[in-house]
Amino acid sequence: MRDQEVKRDSTSREEKGKVWVIGLDGASFELIKPWTQDGELPTFARLMREGAHGVLRSPVPQSPPAWASFMTGCNPGKHGIYDWVQPRRGSYEVDLTCGAMCRSQTLWRILSERGRTVGVVNVPMTYPPEEVNGFLISGFDTPYGSTEFTYPRDLYEELKRHFGHYIILPIIVDVPLRQTVQNFYETIEQREQVMHFLLERYHPEFFMLVFNATDSLQHLCLQSYSDNGRNAAQLEVLRSIYKRLDIILASLLERLPGDAIMLVVSDHGTGPLRGYVHLDHWLAQQGWLRYASDNPALTVQRWQARLIQGAVTALKAAVPEIVKAGLRTRMGNLRTRLEEAATPLLLDWAHTQAYTCSSQGIYINLKGRQPQGTVEPGEEYEALRERIAQALLALLDPDDGRPIVARVYKKEEMFIGPYLDVAPDLYVHWQEDAYLAWNNSKQPRSVLFVRPRALEMDDIVPDENSGTRVGCHRQEGILLMYGDKVRPGSRIEGAQIVDLAPTILALMGEPVPAEVDGRVLTEALEETYLRAFPARRVAGGGGRGQGEEFIYSDEESELIKERLRELGYL
Ligand SMILES: [Zn+2]
Repeated sequence: MRDQEVKRDSTSREEKGKVWVIGLDGASFELIKPWTQDGELPTFARLMREGAHGVLRSPVPQSPPAWASFMTGCNPGKHGIYDWVQPRRGSYEVDLTCGAMCRSQTLWRILSERGRTVGVVNVPMTYPPEEVNGFLISGFDTPYGSTEFTYPRDLYEELKRHFGHYIILPIIVDVPLRQTVQNFYETIEQREQVMHFLLERYHPEFFMLVFNATDSLQHLCLQSYSDNGRNAAQLEVLRSIYKRLDIILASLLERLPGDAIMLVVSDHGTGPLRGYVHLDHWLAQQGWLRYASDNPALTVQRWQARLIQGAVTALKAAVPEIVKAGLRTRMGNLRTRLEEAATPLLLDWAHTQAYTCSSQGIYINLKGRQPQGTVEPGEEYEALRERIAQALLALLDPDDGRPIVARVYKKEEMFIGPYLDVAPDLYVHWQEDAYLAWNNSKQPRSVLFVRPRALEMDDIVPDENSGTRVGCHRQEGILLMYGDKVRPGSRIEGAQIVDLAPTILALMGEPVPAEVDGRVLTEALEETYLRAFPARRVAGGGGRGQGEEFIYSDEESELIKERLRELGYL
């Protein structure tokens, strides 16, 4: 049956096939595999047994760049999103990243332009919603309180009518951990209902929906992969969330059209966090960074006055959902908050050669690029990058004396493309991805390492700067493929997150734009299908025409930045 279906030469829309993608942010085989073996996750087990699966590697394991690479098939050098924030050109200010900053064409844009129908729900980095041939509900980069997170616009009203308030991300902090978990359950319930409603109603040829609970709850609950004697309740939270998602996957399989392929993907994996590392403190200790407060000649008050003035003019706060979820009611006391938030920016730039402004990146204060650059381009720049990289590799964990940095990449070793100029000059890969760069102005300068502190179920969840996130990301995400074009029981080796967009295009009988970095994962596909629809490349697919002008306003950015710092992302 299967062979007959795919051998036909006709390329009518019906025969080109459909793809459904379920994104589970941060999902990991380290958790899934033992639970499938225990019989707890029968649908995951079935997908692995009857479909293809393998680790999906995400070289920059942060949600914004990882999802942007998923949706474009391109590396950050081409799509331009490296982290939660990125430096504004010619300035020390940073901008928050959102979907509009993605400079490469998305999968749904390519499909839409080819007349295919699409439906996209809550994929991170999709705000403001792109015009597509179908519908799109944007992800956690949507400003809090916005009613303009759907395409078409009136889908918002329709969702409101049927489901009430649409939850993009629930409240995470300022409530007991037990309540946070409950809030995620409610979000999952609603999203499941919305998913079935939209599938029933629109029958898109390409459908994708992302669940965020896995990522957020792993940060709070994943002290170790298995019971360490103290974390039984927290591990049970994760197991029950995966079990709930397993049931959703089962309900999707039941309604999966015969010609459709189902993919389950994560943007990165997850694992226990060993420690927070104060990289700016370290740079200061090494003599490459100087805080403004350490230079009496600098009038710190002047800086603060300028920043506060900028913020009090803010009348509306376009706070992304992820920030809102982290900080429910922190709008009061703005002045104090902003003073605190501005502290990391208060560097003595004339005496600073290197600084951080992202989770894994170090920027060089380069003459001609930064306003008060101190490092000459060329030899001096290269020598400094080399010295910092060597020093990072010698940085040891005080607990076990082992190196905490696995490798330091120069940006051109990691990324390629027209947006390399906004990439960090050095990119740090932590040992086993088990550390996080942290900037917390409340910590004394002498402190380089902070160990995470686990929360009990009845503890109130504080913001991320409290050091209570016990889990962090890994490069190893998940990929499961199921359907009649997929080789049953096959293992996928060496898949990269950029391979998904081209693979999905191939599964829908569409050629892949030449610009796309990833490859079609042909080893997972049936030969009969590949013979009927060989993977093809076509010219083009570069920059996207729409939405390039969008940027959060300065006032919005200040407020958002403040909150991201409190969440610990800056
Ligand atoms: Zn993520």
